Amino acid sequence: MYFRQPRYFSDFKCIGGTCSNSCCIGWRIDWYRSEIDKITGDPRCSEELKELVNKSFTQLENSERYLVALGAGGRCPFLAEDNFCKIQRELGAEYLSNTCSIYPRHHIIAGEAAYRYCNMSCPEVMDKLLNIEKSMDLVNVAIREKGTVKGAVMNNEKLLAEHPELKYRGELLEFFYEIIVDKKHDVETSIILGALAAQSLSKIVAAKDYDGIPEAIKQIKPQLHNGAQLRSIENIKPNYYVKLGAAGEMLKSIFQVNIMSALTDKEGKPNIELYVRGEKRLADTFKERQFYLRNIALNLLLEFALPFKFTDKTIFENYSIFATAFALFKLNVIATAELTDKAERSTSNSKVNVVGDIKLNVKVTVKYDTEKYINKSASLISRNLCHNDENAKKLLEDLHNRNFSTPAYLALLIK
Ligand code: SF4
Repeated sequence: MYFRQPRYFSDFKCIGGTCSNSCCIGWRIDWYRSEIDKITGDPRCSEELKELVNKSFTQLENSERYLVALGAGGRCPFLAEDNFCKIQRELGAEYLSNTCSIYPRHHIIAGEAAYRYCNMSCPEVMDKLLNIEKSMDLVNVAIREKGTVKGAVMNNEKLLAEHPELKYRGELLEFFYEIIVDKKHDVETSIILGALAAQSLSKIVAAKDYDGIPEAIKQIKPQLHNGAQLRSIENIKPNYYVKLGAAGEMLKSIFQVNIMSALTDKEGKPNIELYVRGEKRLADTFKERQFYLRNIALNLLLEFALPFKFTDKTIFENYSIFATAFALFKLNVIATAELTDKAERSTSNSKVNVVGDIKLNVKVTVKYDTEKYINKSASLISRNLCHNDENAKKLLEDLHNRNFSTPAYLALLIK
């Protein structure tokens, strides 16, 4: 067995107190009794910490898990004023719960490989995706110490009996990764090609030809380079009714935030001009780092454990959730870019500077760091979709209700 992981994984380090979007604020954090008792049972635990522990947990109904009662502003009660964890500071990192100590790291076990990745809800991870071109190259790393991985996505006998296609979890993950990582096409085209492949593979599973999956992968690969198909994908024109209207509604209903107000006119109707301006601001911000969108897509692919996040859904349905999450990510960051652009325009005013006898008209503009806001708004997608199965399923339901569950509609959402 070996680890297979994006390059950024080995370099990842939590920046704790200096983090701009701490995972200790606004998150549901689960603990087990044994983890809580480990803190209070340690002779080094101060009376103050014991008291805090005793009043900070509530047991979930019909569960062995305990929830941390968050304080004002959604802050974890163990978070000190300087944003460092009081438990870690007093007793050490080994006293944190499993949830706290592994985040943002996750595992998918498939065949001989234990895939490792981090959630991009962590701004440090986002920073690597946005700034390091090769951060999503997969590398193999030897496993030096044996240990059990809690919370890994993996097969078990019961799952395999119910869904024999899971036997090919690793092959399918690698196949979709290979499609999205291929820099011969823009990332949108790669995602649409993946949707076509997912649709074909779903048919193989529906026909119960589970062992036909490796052969199907072999046959699909050359079709991905079919010139006529590529041209027809590349020629798809943006459909603002779908991109702004339908995707905007999904964004609003799932994230419960009205970021779309940045792209709508006074009557609340989507405004293409505002969208195009946001798109331009985004392109300008990342003009030297055009790789960032593909890095985001590849990390999302791992976060959705493609193509088997939900084993009761088809390969194509799982893929549709991933592809739509990517479309919503794009829309969200375009709206964020337009918001910073608008904020900058509204602060731009003329000022008269007097130098000796000369009066100078000077334009003063407050500069907004678009990237800082984009990092934060991107983490919304990971928090609300990758960490929240209910929302991911709601998204799929929404696609079904709109009759958008086809590669053609996914293409219109993404392009
Ligand atoms: S979000 Fe990431 S960098 Fe920030 S505190 Fe959590 S693990 Fe550390």
